[in-house]
Amino acid sequence: MKIKSITFRGGYRFKRFKGQPREETVTLPLPDKVILPLKRDGFEEAMPCVEVGQKVLTGQLIARDDNSLSSPIHSSISGMVESVKKITLNGVKTAAVIIKPGQSEEWAPAHNSPSAWDKMTEDELDEILYISGVSSLGSNGIPTRFNSSRIGKKDVKDIIVAHTDSDVFNVSIQALLGDAGMESVITGLKILGVAFQGARVHVVLSRNQKKIIKELASNFSSDQKISVYGVKPKYPQDNRNILISSIPGINTHTRNIPVFNLQDIVHIYEAVVKKKPLVERVVAFSGSGFEQNRHYRLRLGTLLEDILKGKTAVPKSVRFIMNSVLNGKALDDLDRPLTEKMHQIIAVPENHEGELLAFARPGMRKDSITPVFVASFLPFGKKLDTNINGEERACISCGFCADVCPSRLLPQLLHRYAERNIINEKLVQYRIEDCVDCNLCTYVCTSKIPVAALIKKGKEKLAADGLIQEPGETGSGKDSNPEKERV
Ligand code: SF4
Ligand code: SF4
Repeated sequence: MKIKSITFRGGYRFKRFKGQPREETVTLPLPDKVILPLKRDGFEEAMPCVEVGQKVLTGQLIARDDNSLSSPIHSSISGMVESVKKITLNGVKTAAVIIKPGQSEEWAPAHNSPSAWDKMTEDELDEILYISGVSSLGSNGIPTRFNSSRIGKKDVKDIIVAHTDSDVFNVSIQALLGDAGMESVITGLKILGVAFQGARVHVVLSRNQKKIIKELASNFSSDQKISVYGVKPKYPQDNRNILISSIPGINTHTRNIPVFNLQDIVHIYEAVVKKKPLVERVVAFSGSGFEQNRHYRLRLGTLLEDILKGKTAVPKSVRFIMNSVLNGKALDDLDRPLTEKMHQIIAVPENHEGELLAFARPGMRKDSITPVFVASFLPFGKKLDTNINGEERACISCGFCADVCPSRLLPQLLHRYAERNIINEKLVQYRIEDCVDCNLCTYVCTSKIPVAALIKKGKEKLAADGLIQEPGETGSGKDSNPEKERV
């Protein structure tokens, strides 16, 4: 199999940031309780099928509703149902089942099929993917014959699996693979191939993952349906729209392309081969705000405040961000459960102090798109904190924002219209709708202008006026929710 090289115009390569998670994966002791929302991100609420006081096993089904676009939910620990109540998660109300641990650590299997996976029919695989809860993974869920995705199964012609190491901090592939090693990814991809007979599977990996790319290539050398691509680890390569437009031969106008990350593929393998329902997640703890940067294997529903307790680099205060420094979600409220869409928690030290004569300092640890800091030439790790190192000034038309924009837009033009509240057809002509909310324009702006936020404001107003489609309705599947958009 020939490994194809793909890329996109613009983007930015983040190099040598301190706080990368080490490869090791630590399993934490079971939590004191889990809170399991019955509505998964992008889905409707499932119906609880357990009662208060009922004993449950790890992996036991606690909610299911085949009549709505929802995902079966499983208990992530063995114990007793303490309550079923309404909670608010990401501004949305949902019922949640709260479970307290018991003595046993017995598991309920995801399915009882006696067949080996390669003897299973497409229908059997469909049912296991749905009933195990893994159909809620990926950008659009996994289409099955059940109500598991907005995409119709027969409409899927292409599937993308990506792990591109292109963000500031990245989840380690080795940490995800667990005991099964590469077998989990290889078998997981083969299962996808059988479950989607008519679709091509495109695997996009960072070029730096030479060993893994080689292993995949040798395993799928005679499989015409699977292609492997190597990419330069450049942000935002793992954005759904950028992936779709980078891969040759894909119809960029279709929404029917499910995009998965490698952890999703490992979960598919575990559900089908190991009969393990979706009850846990490997989460990278990145950023210099943590005392140690590791990966943790965590049960879904564990409260973030319980997970993070005692793990920050005291006495500094830190800002927690979910999944990506550039376009993730700031976690203001830690009284919330770990969900299936989290793969990284980043702790960034707070720093609001102005630096005296900052322009005259060498910038030993600072990152910049220009070579103004000596850090560009030195091998030392760069430091990231919440300081934007300066105040907002007028745009100087340096053009850096346009250089990095992966959608080939002119952010310096778009933000001026939005800032002056001139939000009309002109912005539609300038293709504002193609902005993928990567925030790179804001990151590189020499005048510290919140360029991306202004552009987003413009898009929201245009969508409200009916001049562009709402996020999530466009052909290539734009979605401003970082939990859903990033893979
Ligand atoms: S946020 Fe939008 S305008 Fe800014 S660089 Fe990204 S795609 Fe371009
Ligand atoms: S990077 Fe900032 S200052 Fe430079 S052109 Fe873009 S908006 Fe203007």
